[in-house]
Amino acid sequence: MKIAKEFRWEMGHRLSFHDGKCINLHGHSYKALIEIEGDKDNNGMVLDYYELKKWVKPVIEELDHAFMVYEQDQQLVRILKEINSKHVIVDFESTAENISEYLLNRILQNKAEYNIRKVKVRVYETENTYAETEYVRFS
Ligand SMILES: [Zn+2]
Repeated sequence: MKIAKEFRWEMGHRLSFHDGKCINLHGHSYKALIEIEGDKDNNGMVLDYYELKKWVKPVIEELDHAFMVYEQDQQLVRILKEINSKHVIVDFESTAENISEYLLNRILQNKAEYNIRKVKVRVYETENTYAETEYVRFS
């Protein structure tokens, strides 16, 4: 059985390696679809949506209206600090692929032990582009 919940946030970023326009400072209305797979409990739930929100929301709050900046993009890190603008320093280029892995890892850190087999994170950078990663627990 599978359940899912959608989360949205606004975030600035740039890809410092990019040849095209993605090297410029810009932002997206990001959307993440979090899917949880497991067995229903006696109450008929895989996981309470409320619990799911408690896991994921704090991570999304950190990113919302922030600028995600690669630690090696040093000039930009310095400027963001100087102007005291909300930012999240990460050790990767902020591609949708990397952001989906980041979210998955952060979510798994928060998670309590439930009877969950699989957690999947799909990050939409635009309406029609996404990257997806998943964690499967073998037990
Ligand atoms: Zn972008």
